[in-house]
Amino acid sequence: MAAAAAAKVQEVRDVTRIERIGAHSHIRGLGLDDALEPRNVSQGMVGQLGARRAAGVVLEMIKEGKIAGRAVLIGGQPGTGKTAIAMGMAQALGTDTPFYGIAGSEVFSLEMSKTEALTQAFRKSIGVRIKEESEIIEGEVVEMQIDRPATGTGQKVGKLTLKTTEMETIYDLGAKMIESLTKEKVQAGDVITIDKASGKISKLGRSFTRAKDYDAMGPQTKFVQCPEGELQKRKEVVHTVTLHEIDVINSRQQGFLALFSGDTGEIKSEVREQINQKVAEWREEGKAEIVPGVLFIDEVHMLDIECFSYLNRALEHDMAPVLIMATNRGITKIRGTSYTSPHGIPIDLLDRLLIISTSPYTERDTKQILSIRCEEEDVEMSDDAMLALMKIGMETSLRYAIQLITCASLVCRKRKGTKVSVDDIKRVYSLFLDETRSSQYLKEYHQEFMF
Ligand code: ATP
Repeated sequence: MAAAAAAKVQEVRDVTRIERIGAHSHIRGLGLDDALEPRNVSQGMVGQLGARRAAGVVLEMIKEGKIAGRAVLIGGQPGTGKTAIAMGMAQALGTDTPFYGIAGSEVFSLEMSKTEALTQAFRKSIGVRIKEESEIIEGEVVEMQIDRPATGTGQKVGKLTLKTTEMETIYDLGAKMIESLTKEKVQAGDVITIDKASGKISKLGRSFTRAKDYDAMGPQTKFVQCPEGELQKRKEVVHTVTLHEIDVINSRQQGFLALFSGDTGEIKSEVREQINQKVAEWREEGKAEIVPGVLFIDEVHMLDIECFSYLNRALEHDMAPVLIMATNRGITKIRGTSYTSPHGIPIDLLDRLLIISTSPYTERDTKQILSIRCEEEDVEMSDDAMLALMKIGMETSLRYAIQLITCASLVCRKRKGTKVSVDDIKRVYSLFLDETRSSQYLKEYHQEFMF
């Protein structure tokens, strides 16, 4: 696996991660203290203490690698922060543990089968920490010649003669190395190290043979003595990529550019088998380790019976991630069957889940969440407007009230105001219907709609 490709892939994953959490951008963690106790308002999280406490325990188990292959269900009414809690967990896990989220309905598409979509989601949540040994060469710069400025990538645009105590070697300089040389202000006579894998050059200081220069340059320059023989240090470089990224890079049909477009299509099972085998070899040789991450499936009741059987099977796999699911459904039909079940999830799967439940918010918590969102969206709101919005949130839904913030701020700007007033809130409340008023309207006028 090429190190450079792996690094690029990592960036792509970070971008998709950010995009997915738009509505939850104010969430920066679970807001727990060192004893895993939730603070009432912390890291953008408000209230919902029981669920956050439970999520904290799950998080700790994930960090200790104790519950790979286990599954958690967050159940509760709409808008009670189930997704927010999952996002808080993702933030708390940090970037080294893969976290991938999908909505249940995303599994159904014309582009790929349901099981392929789920397989990709699983493999996006399994990290492979690859250790590479990189050779580091240290020596004194004898001569440096840069032919032309570094443009583009991968071009050899210069030469560097490096002397170690035993030999003199000429290196072709790539754009990346020239960038490092310039950044480090390397000149002839400096002692530098070159990391062969990444091409990174670091300046250590002036050489022993130029001790006079060293005196002249003052104490900020480090004095380095070249040790006997060619100095070759070995350093470990660690990358974390997901199994899915390795699949895509090695899939001849796709090529790694598919990672940028997200359009990876179906991946052949032979490719996956080969990758699994390769990763198993790397693990045995101590070159790689598996980092089971988290797969979050929101609106899990949208999955059908075939998807649930897939999940049951996939959780048995020795590289399985932790599965976190969320639903706002009570007792309902399992899709694809005529049976009903709690949350629309088959009993055998339910039986293996740790279930966390969320409860409706108090007025105080609702107000707090709304003011955090105002801050996040840079919206100033008068106290009575906030009170009105909070009342709307309690009577309709928190999500509807949150949406009104942006709309009310636009209306306020239109009238050249700087602070959202009660009238702005009233205006947007009458412009946009919440779910209850919209259904009422449909009931009243249903004859006039198409059937
Ligand atoms: P649904 O069942 O409809 O999917 P949900 O339970 O997943 O709803 P969220 O989407 O998490 O609800 O919450 C709605 C909005 O309120 C989001 O913007 C979320 O970030 C915010 N929110 C919910 N709960 C909290 C909380 N405890 N602290 C801070 N923000 C919250």
